Amino acid sequence: MITGLVFDIKKFSIHDGPGIRTTIFFKGCPLTCWWCHNPESQAVGAEIVFGQGKCIRCHACLVRCEQEAISWNGDGVASTDSQKCTLCGQCVEACYTEARQIVGQKMTVAQVMEKIEEDIAFYDESGGGVTFSGGEPLLQRNFLLALLRACKEKEIHTAVDTCGFASWEKLDSIREYVDLFLYDLKLMDDASHRKFTGVPNKLILENLQALSQQGHNIALRIPIIPGVNDDDENLRRTGAFAATSLHLKRVDILPYHYTAIDKYDRLHKVYGLSETRPPLDERMAEIAQILQKFDLQVKIGG
Ligand code: SF4
Ligand code: SF4
Repeated sequence: MITGLVFDIKKFSIHDGPGIRTTIFFKGCPLTCWWCHNPESQAVGAEIVFGQGKCIRCHACLVRCEQEAISWNGDGVASTDSQKCTLCGQCVEACYTEARQIVGQKMTVAQVMEKIEEDIAFYDESGGGVTFSGGEPLLQRNFLLALLRACKEKEIHTAVDTCGFASWEKLDSIREYVDLFLYDLKLMDDASHRKFTGVPNKLILENLQALSQQGHNIALRIPIIPGVNDDDENLRRTGAFAATSLHLKRVDILPYHYTAIDKYDRLHKVYGLSETRPPLDERMAEIAQILQKFDLQVKIGG
């Protein structure tokens, strides 16, 4: 039986493709973007997260944990020893305030399809469907492929939100079941791409070209991160690449926001862009104009 690790299922989504959609968030990502809105998606395995602000120091979790994996420091901050923790979920159950959570749930294809099929009437009514997102869904290719096939059997519209950092063999194996690729493009300069995402961009650009040459339906998604990729030169290079290499017309530019900053605290991760503020509306309009000069259809927002 094929199973996968899912960290969230969002129903009635209207920003992850056309119509009303169910978005399935896969756990695990090969990138570590500094602005990631879902840092809980990055680690490949399930993990415990702890929200210090919600904790009332009742120590119910500590008492319940048979593995003695939880310890308390003098400042009242709990830490979990990942070597001892078996992810049994007992501490989560014991926590009245939901300060402890397990991120990442093992699910079968049938379990996910049951969730997806609950809203078929809404997809039909709105021209929607299902979007596989993450994390990076291609990291769990077999699970993704099985879900895509199951959706196609039910004639459900499918979208895959990908960072593109996967082998062509993986993309090639799923593409016939994908109605729309939501393809993320961050930076054209390879050194900057490595710095801010942790990986080079060559494979990402090559895969995007290959999908486009195969005639796939692609919506390019560019997060606009002030001080990272919002300079005119990067935008002009992005526009030129999209227009001349890809035969691609649709680009969504997504203004940076930092609403996920609390998640970094819960995961004990450092947020590298704490000084960065969202771009002004005027700058987003200018960026749209820069890209439109390359004969691209540009939309601000998803
Ligand atoms: S998930 Fe289980 S093993 Fe891990 S900290 Fe909680 S109670 Fe202990
Ligand atoms: S059970 Fe929850 S609220 Fe109580 S100490 Fe543990 S994390 Fe804090």
